[in-house]
Amino acid sequence: MAIDYSSDPAVNNFREYLRIASVHPNVNYDECLTFLRRQAQECGLTVQEFEPVPKKPVLVMTWTGEEPTLPSILLLSHMDVVPVAGQDWDYPPFEARLIDGRIYARGSQDMKAHAMQTIEAVRRLKKNNIKMKRTVHLCFVPDEEVGGFDGMATFVKTDAYRSLNVGFCIDEGSGSPGDEIVVYNGAKSIWHIEVTCRGQSGHGSLMFPNTCGEKIRYIIDKFMDLRKEYVAKVAASGKPNLLALGDVISVNLTMLRGGEQNNVIPDKMVASFDLRLPPFLDFDQFENQIKQWCEEAGEAVTFDFQQKDPKPKDFNLDEVIYWQPIKDTLDKMKIPYLVGIFPAGNDSRFVRELGTPAIGLSPLRHTPVAAHARNESLLVSVFLEGITVFENIIPAMCNA
Ligand code: ZN
Repeated sequence: MAIDYSSDPAVNNFREYLRIASVHPNVNYDECLTFLRRQAQECGLTVQEFEPVPKKPVLVMTWTGEEPTLPSILLLSHMDVVPVAGQDWDYPPFEARLIDGRIYARGSQDMKAHAMQTIEAVRRLKKNNIKMKRTVHLCFVPDEEVGGFDGMATFVKTDAYRSLNVGFCIDEGSGSPGDEIVVYNGAKSIWHIEVTCRGQSGHGSLMFPNTCGEKIRYIIDKFMDLRKEYVAKVAASGKPNLLALGDVISVNLTMLRGGEQNNVIPDKMVASFDLRLPPFLDFDQFENQIKQWCEEAGEAVTFDFQQKDPKPKDFNLDEVIYWQPIKDTLDKMKIPYLVGIFPAGNDSRFVRELGTPAIGLSPLRHTPVAAHARNESLLVSVFLEGITVFENIIPAMCNA
């Protein structure tokens, strides 16, 4: 018989948060704020609210430590979720149905589970009168799912953020299908590039030398060969897919443009590639590689960047004083973990840019990744285990 979770207050709080449809586009965050204020009040946490961008609120709950001048711990989560349009769900995505020990809802993985796990953990710690040296802030931000520019990116530049005196940040990680929790200590940088190949135009019946088609074939081959190599490397790694992707450059051909009519050889063709670079890569060397391919492809082959994220500030996780207590806690709980690079970007990159170490850690193991997917769902047992993980991790970090 399945356990009946329907009267568990933590589960009910989680489901209530999931029923708030904080979904893009044009999220109205008011209901989230009302809900979070109530949570803070119940837990005995102080609340500050900021609006660094109009209608894009940031809410911070604070539990002041015994030594409030020490750098604080920031537990970060985003309030928004991605749309469900075009996805044919088996259950309504904003009703948080509980079926056979599993909750179905948009945001159940990304990332209202993590947010509620931190709140429930703090609720328990406060109730048990646990004393901690460091201050902990629970920070709820808008608009992560549309790049974070009006959310965390702006908030980290404010005096309000600076006054939080953050020494370390835990943000979302991801689910992990296996027995282990995955920990991300960096994210990949986005390079969006467009390669333009120019050449001889003319009648489609003739075979001139120096056509743009030959050149673009060379360029596509080079990128696709690289892609093939990395796809094989990911498959052979034995790691969870997201973690393995963090070890390689992600390469995708995303747009091809050129030509008007089938009997006319055009004088130009353009190929766009979405590239994601791991932080340990030599960025200059990779750019030189692209330059070299363009030269090899023939004359008048050039490339431009639509987006070129810089190489991120690196930090050595083993030198971060908050990491050892986290590892010790997971070891004590006999929960294995893997460390790697997040294949996409999220709000923790804005924290890292300030030079503050930030990791992605969501205690969601035994959970195939269904963020942004149809029928996004989470086992209640996984949700509850994650509360206990944070309940142990938070004091360990705050006493580091
Ligand atoms: Zn997320």
